[in-house]
Amino acid sequence: MPPGTGHLLASRPVTAFLVAVAIGLVFGLILALAMRSRVRRREAGEEPPARGLRAPPIPSRDETIATAPPVRPAAPTAPAPAAVKGDGLGSRIRALFAGKKASAEEWSRLEDLLIRADVGPTAATLLVSRVKERYEEGSPDPAALMAEEIANVLGGDNDLHLKPGELSVIMVVGVNGAGKSTTIGKLAALLGRRGLKVGMANSDTFRAAAGEQLSVWAERSGAHIVTQTRGADPGAVAFDAVQSAKARGDDVLIVDTAGRLHTRQPLMAELEKVKRVLERAAGDIEDILLVIDATTGQNGITQAREFTKAVPLTGVALTKLDGTAKGGIVLAVREELDVPVKLVGTGEQVGDLQPFDPQAFANNLLAG
Ligand code: GDP
Repeated sequence: MPPGTGHLLASRPVTAFLVAVAIGLVFGLILALAMRSRVRRREAGEEPPARGLRAPPIPSRDETIATAPPVRPAAPTAPAPAAVKGDGLGSRIRALFAGKKASAEEWSRLEDLLIRADVGPTAATLLVSRVKERYEEGSPDPAALMAEEIANVLGGDNDLHLKPGELSVIMVVGVNGAGKSTTIGKLAALLGRRGLKVGMANSDTFRAAAGEQLSVWAERSGAHIVTQTRGADPGAVAFDAVQSAKARGDDVLIVDTAGRLHTRQPLMAELEKVKRVLERAAGDIEDILLVIDATTGQNGITQAREFTKAVPLTGVALTKLDGTAKGGIVLAVREELDVPVKLVGTGEQVGDLQPFDPQAFANNLLAG
């Protein structure tokens, strides 16, 4: 044994013991860390809980909010056949005639489809007879034929009757809520964009709010307005507005009128009077527009019939076509009363009014 190594040999068992303890501690520590991280992962849902050991932790309310998966649209699944075809009028017509020679039953069901779209029985019968005739002559697609025939029925005289270089008067009638003030405001802006000078007359002196609302629209569209306090004579307002428009050299004067229920006789008498005053002051009235809310369905034709009794309508402004309603009612109005559509409202903003386009309207009516 070399000298000086005796104490080392004597301490060898102690050293071995210490090394073993150290190794044990290190393993213990590693094991403990591994277990801890596993428990954490399990709690975080990254690893399923050990079966039979314990129930998954119930998250606290805050955790539920923080960790709730974002609401996602349902994963795309194969669309149902109906969704592929769509449920609009056009799709229904195609489904009705798909793969079979049309019999009397199909034509009668086509008429029902049109009536359900507010087209009205007279217009529905006419449209079906025209489509049937062309189909039997060899045109294969009844839906495409229907779009063409609808556009044919609605086409013609769709422009406003403006007189260049002179004051043109447009009188606007309709039930409350149909969209008269909004349409007048949008129309003033539309004509203003065409470089025309526009004035407004508030002859709806029955509702105080109507005057305020129209004044806001006048400001928005850059039009001049003649208004009066509530209860003033609507005819007198109309007269003053014509004088003012002439003095200012306006191109167009748009006259708002009261719209309480069309079935109330005094209102109709009042409308006749406003019309007479306008004619006396301005000569002819170029257009008398009935505002029809597309969402009122069949009620639109009743309104049109009543207003026609009081004043000769020259056109319809169809509003709220931006909603789900497609305005089939204007076919009934055209067929029964021969009143063309001239304007279409598609929203509440100043730019949401378009001149009527029969083909675009027909395509939209059949779309889906
Ligand atoms: P009035 O009583 O006939 O003068 O009707 P208003 O002009 O006051 O319109 C009644 C409501 O219909 C208002 O809330 C308008 O913003 C809304 N409105 C009018 N035209 C349209 C339109 O084309 N589309 C939509 N979505 N709303 C409209």
